[in-house]
Amino acid sequence: MHDLIIIGAGPGGISAAIYAKRYNLDVLLIEKEMLFGGKVLYPHWIENFIGIPEGISGAELSDRLQKHAISFQVPFKHAQIVALEYSNNSFQVMLSNQETIKSKTVLLANGTTERLLNIPGEKEYKGKGVSYCATCDAPFFKNKTLAVIGGGDSALAEILYLTEFASRIHLIHRRKEFRGSEHLVNKLNQHPSLQQWLGYTAKEIHGNNDQIQSIFVENTQSNKTESIPVDGLFIFAGYEPDTSFLKLSVPKDEKGYILTNEEMETTVPGLYAAGDIRSKSFRQIITALSDGATAAHAIRNKLKS
Ligand code: NAP
Repeated sequence: MHDLIIIGAGPGGISAAIYAKRYNLDVLLIEKEMLFGGKVLYPHWIENFIGIPEGISGAELSDRLQKHAISFQVPFKHAQIVALEYSNNSFQVMLSNQETIKSKTVLLANGTTERLLNIPGEKEYKGKGVSYCATCDAPFFKNKTLAVIGGGDSALAEILYLTEFASRIHLIHRRKEFRGSEHLVNKLNQHPSLQQWLGYTAKEIHGNNDQIQSIFVENTQSNKTESIPVDGLFIFAGYEPDTSFLKLSVPKDEKGYILTNEEMETTVPGLYAAGDIRSKSFRQIITALSDGATAAHAIRNKLKS
């Protein structure tokens, strides 16, 4: 029986794990991916991690987070969780290999998964020109024409990276205003090679079965449609919470994010949530780190009482 099982080795989970070790808790960190970092692995460059003024790549920051957890000898298990239940006075964490691990408390820090557009051609051309990760795939598009969908921080930050490779980029956003930060919008507007399609939605992705060739867009006001020839398409349409493995009744907000109190505890005693999976107004690496530390502190107090 562990004191604490942490589900997810993104910034929220790693932060909680390090604090839990400092509190001498019997903690186990479970992650389904081979690498630590969660979504921190994806951004090509992070310029707002306080204390690193020169900036840092997502891969490098993830590596440092992992090394920090290792330096505290955080016990780690690489496994996929299929169910989380509560019975016989403990949480039961069930893994895909049929193993069940028990714990007095659980911290959900499993983040979110990328939102799909669910338009014709998206699934068919994933890996054939359609990508959700600029860091992973940008080098394949040297001197090519790209389209990027989205208007949040991810789209704006990653499109700036893509300009280092592509010769031409079309930015397609469904509204006239961006959701992302003003600082990135200003940088974006300094790139005349970018063609902005504001007030357009992507309707279909076309190709020759092996490779994407064009994207079909529609003006949200006039309903006028156009076909844009592209060699690749990067989709940054945000993320969605995945709580399908939860077999407990846990209150969530209207978008499916888990509701907690200020101590990161849900209405289920002993069940906590930290980072992007939690209902909150601002999803950032530093807010996830803060959630994790707060949760570990609250869990330590709960177990001591
Ligand atoms: P996001 O902020 O949710 O933005 C998603 C974008 O995709 C929005 O512009 C949205 O349009 C658009 N979108 C959603 N569904 C769509 C659909 N079906 N069709 C077309 N467009 C669609 O997601 P994000 O940019 O990935 O950012 C997620 C979180 O991470 C945010 O809190 C963000 O601040 C943070 N983040 C921070 C940094 C940084 O600080 N360096 C970098 C990356 C991400 P609408 O605007 O019309 O809703």
